[in-house]
Amino acid sequence: MERVKTTVSVIKADIGSVAGHVVVHPDTIAAATRVLAEAKAKGVIADFYVTNAGDDLELIMTHRKGADSPEVHEVAWTAFQEAAKVSRELGLYAAGQDLLSEAFSGNVRGLGPSVAEMEFVERPSEPIAVFMADKTEPGAFNLPMFRVFADPFNTAGLVIDPKLHTGFKFEVYDVFEGRSVVLNAPDEMYDILALIGTPARFIVRRVYRRIDGEIAAAVSVERLSLIAGRYVGKDDPVAVVRVQAGFPAMGEVLEAFAFPHLVAGWMRGSHHGPLMPVPQRYAKCTRFDGPPRLVGLGFQVKNSRLIGPVDLFDDPAFDETRRTAQLVADYMRRHGPFMPHRLGPEEMEYTTLPEVLEKLKERFTKVEGAPRAAEPRIKTELLSRESKEGD
Ligand SMILES: [Mg+2]
Repeated sequence: MERVKTTVSVIKADIGSVAGHVVVHPDTIAAATRVLAEAKAKGVIADFYVTNAGDDLELIMTHRKGADSPEVHEVAWTAFQEAAKVSRELGLYAAGQDLLSEAFSGNVRGLGPSVAEMEFVERPSEPIAVFMADKTEPGAFNLPMFRVFADPFNTAGLVIDPKLHTGFKFEVYDVFEGRSVVLNAPDEMYDILALIGTPARFIVRRVYRRIDGEIAAAVSVERLSLIAGRYVGKDDPVAVVRVQAGFPAMGEVLEAFAFPHLVAGWMRGSHHGPLMPVPQRYAKCTRFDGPPRLVGLGFQVKNSRLIGPVDLFDDPAFDETRRTAQLVADYMRRHGPFMPHRLGPEEMEYTTLPEVLEKLKERFTKVEGAPRAAEPRIKTELLSRESKEGD
């Protein structure tokens, strides 16, 4: 007999917030909670926890219907619609922002919300970590995911635990082409890094344990601007990671966030800044709409029920990380509108900057005798979007 599988689905959307892009309103959380409670009573989902990371409404759900279940996605979609209704009534800022479509068609992917889902047979004790970021993009998880599952200087278990010692498989997703590649760590770690070092394009989507193919992590890969073709909001990502007993320990997973690395997002989704791990009460991006925040909640999953949460970064051990993040925030802010604080031109394409530049186009005049820039010597399909026809 096939063993019962539990699915953890974390689905989020920004459906409007109070006083700008700061925090969700409790009434929108209540509206979403009502929808999920009803779905639980009907047996569509087994359990749920509704929360927020800054201005993002987060639905953490468990059920037995597998990833991409139309029923579960419809519950999430209805919850966001109901919350957006409240958001509009209250005149919240950017009400319904991430809901790009009016009609639900069986799956929330492509409609605006971000999704991280994984299905597994529960271990006798099944601890998980759910990560929710605000004011950044899915590629923000690339560096920490690599460190958790491929860097022995971060994860001691890679060296000393036989189940981890054979390494992990990384599914890397290309957001521009909608395709993915599976690469093995440690053997192909340089290839993995060659891709995921470009986090705006290549995103670690899933991680599997090599010894038996068990799923270890899932990250949302939705990028709103690529779906909508214009800047809508930053694609604040979510991730689920299984921890302990054959997976990295909770402390090894959290250790990867002790370095507040630079990510894209922050003000107008157009700036690089440090990713600051915070207790949930501090997931309130106020300084220049940032710096980008990360909230982590720990749960036990038992018979598809959620036990918890534990607020994982509510620990003075991360005070120095936060202090470093503040110093980095100061340093980056002093660049004002200059790169690398402001994002590069490929990323700015989806913002309102092109409209500003369009005005100047006619005013440029040719400079006689000026050398023309040479064609780039190396063009690869993987690195240059321009090299692709019809792009
Ligand atoms: Mg947000």
